[in-house]
Amino acid sequence: MLIRCWGSRGSIPVCGRDYIKYGGDTTCIEVRGSKGELIIIDAGTGIRRLGARLVDEGVSAIHILLTHSHWDHLLGFPFFKPLYVDSSKIHVYGYYATQDSVRNIISKTMRPPYFPVRLDDIHAEINFHTTEPEGFHIGSILVKTIPLNHTNRGVGYRLEEEGRSFVFLTDNELNYNHPCGLSYEEYERFSAGADLLFHDAEYTPSDYMPGWGHSIYTDALRLAIRSGVKKFGLFHHNQERKDDEIDSMVADCRRMLEEEGSTLDVFAVATDMEVTL
Ligand SMILES: [Zn+2]
Ligand SMILES: [Zn+2]
Repeated sequence: MLIRCWGSRGSIPVCGRDYIKYGGDTTCIEVRGSKGELIIIDAGTGIRRLGARLVDEGVSAIHILLTHSHWDHLLGFPFFKPLYVDSSKIHVYGYYATQDSVRNIISKTMRPPYFPVRLDDIHAEINFHTTEPEGFHIGSILVKTIPLNHTNRGVGYRLEEEGRSFVFLTDNELNYNHPCGLSYEEYERFSAGADLLFHDAEYTPSDYMPGWGHSIYTDALRLAIRSGVKKFGLFHHNQERKDDEIDSMVADCRRMLEEEGSTLDVFAVATDMEVTL
């Protein structure tokens, strides 16, 4: 399984000299399975560059897993080039307990006067699916889901193939109870033993906003340690967080791990980063 990041920024895309190392595009993750399966998690602004590459490669079978309906996770969808290629076969999966149907959530990003092209005008084949809690397969990849502890709800994913696993939990507030959210222990169980975990690390202890749906990076690190994952990436970087400030968060995590004698590999997820499991 190959995991490639096309956007790890939260809330709104950013650009400029302070955001070069980690990038400014919002959430989009590409996952390639061993048999060539293509899964995309979220349609943040990062999906624009990915879409251009997929058209160049002639990839037509595309599976998009959405975590939730906040703008930063959908904003790139109308600019996803495969939508405008007639031979594309796109499957979009959304959460069973979110506040609208998957189709409605997507179609609201493509509606005049906000955008000139309607979803109904798209010639590519688009199929909408609702994820169920018991999990499902996309090719040889098993997709498991968990409700997120987030404002307006959402879903996290665990992708497994050939004994390897990748857990993606963004927009998840550990240690807070939102409607539909679960306990810290349940996220720990869901992440247990994963080869790779990306988790929301929006806040520092000093700028934490309780109830806004995001985690303090040290709480996310604690989850990674307790669930015994092998690699841990800080994700959903705050729009104000400059490269050197993210570097400081990673350094702090490494200091904490050293104190505990942990061998966990920790880093901050950057645009264009690739991990092979
Ligand atoms: Zn977000
Ligand atoms: Zn959100």
